Amino acid sequence: MSSAPHISMVGVTRRYGSLTALRDINLNVDPGEFLAVVGASGSGKSTLLRLMGGLETPSQGAIEIGHRKPDEVRRAKEIGWTAQRPALMPWRTVRQQIELVEHINHRAGHTVDVDGLLEMTALTEFAHALPQALSGGMQQRAALARTLATGASVWLMDEPFAALDEITRSKMVVELLELKDSVDATTIWVTHHISEAVRLADRIAVLSPRPGHVVAEVKVNLPRPRDETSMPFQQVIREVRGHLLAAEDELTG
Ligand code: ADP
Ligand code: MG
Repeated sequence: MSSAPHISMVGVTRRYGSLTALRDINLNVDPGEFLAVVGASGSGKSTLLRLMGGLETPSQGAIEIGHRKPDEVRRAKEIGWTAQRPALMPWRTVRQQIELVEHINHRAGHTVDVDGLLEMTALTEFAHALPQALSGGMQQRAALARTLATGASVWLMDEPFAALDEITRSKMVVELLELKDSVDATTIWVTHHISEAVRLADRIAVLSPRPGHVVAEVKVNLPRPRDETSMPFQQVIREVRGHLLAAEDELTG
């Protein structure tokens, strides 16, 4: 399996007709880095992910993932997606969702430890359950297990916890942090939840309201697990929030 690649976006602009969704995005993500992207709704976060994942092409500028085009990396099935609502197949059990990925990737000589993945995502007991029998948090864990099973070296996560309640969400953050160390992937995590970004990310890119532009990059130099009540944590939150507010002010004049 390939190890985590570097990702670069240079001068990337994306337009939809007369609407500019993203303007002149310049971003570098290190191999294995966990980058959070925060921005208001409509600031182009999902568009940014679709561009990185090769589902769309920039109107201007260039994107490279380990010196390849995103579309090429996508075709090689090296990109793992996690969306806001887990796209599980209602007629397949948790185990079958993971096994399907194994089956698809088998030709690439990729083997998957299904039991290990079930254990890692605390779903062993629910291996034979259908998605409808699972809570929202468990469904999202099953989706994570499936993404893990792909062996993807790039993880694009679009507000994956947005549909969960606060408590489940907070637990999932802890679980994701534990998983993170066993996954060799470059991760882009999109959210409008600032404290979640500060808990998880190595670095946070702040997007302005539409057209989305990177107004700041904030490095999170705090040891994990991070204490949300600590002064340094609150300081980073204030810094990110300050950038978001300043970008809004600029817009409204
Ligand atoms: P976010 O994920 O930050 O909420 P999006 O990336 O979904 O933002 O959208 C950014 C802007 O681009 C929005 O104004 C949205 O309406 C517009 N947009 C996104 N996709 C399309 C599309 N396929 N066609 C037209 N406009 C789009
Ligand atoms: Mg979105």
